[in-house]
Amino acid sequence: MVAKVLQRPTLVLLWNESARVVDPADYQLYTWEDWAKLRPGNGEDCIQAVRFKLRVPEVVALSGYDRLPVAHVTFSRRNIFKRDHYTCQYCGAQPGSEELTLDHVLPRSQGGVSGWENCVLACMACNKRKADRTPEQARMHLRRKPVRPTWKPLYADHELRIESWSKFISEAYWNVTLRE
Ligand SMILES: [Zn+2]
Repeated sequence: MVAKVLQRPTLVLLWNESARVVDPADYQLYTWEDWAKLRPGNGEDCIQAVRFKLRVPEVVALSGYDRLPVAHVTFSRRNIFKRDHYTCQYCGAQPGSEELTLDHVLPRSQGGVSGWENCVLACMACNKRKADRTPEQARMHLRRKPVRPTWKPLYADHELRIESWSKFISEAYWNVTLRE
């Protein structure tokens, strides 16, 4: 059933890097090349190519907007976690979503706003250490400058329910638009 979802145009989008594969388990984004390196697990849907088997991607994210109406990526918890790859942007730790917090780079107490360019993931320890200070004041280094993501989740068919998709469409907590 999963194979039906993966239509040829999707594969083409992956090949020419207009889309990336989203791993439903951790929302990590894979390029076609990286995805192709993953071995399918037992009983997992796969595509038999000439020399190798591919895991069937269930969810893809478009890298650009050329085929969809222009829309901003929602500023939500889920999307911040996705953009920052579940990684503390100060120390690089990946302690799991329960142990990650949203950090305002320029603290709200110093006029910092809630938005893509001022919010990053921080682990509990880094959050505590940084407290109400800027990275400079706390002598902490940001691994990358936070930016608004340009991807957009693509749902091929809303009627079709795949277990992993429900993670993307049912958790209001993760999807709610945070105040920017
Ligand atoms: Zn940290």
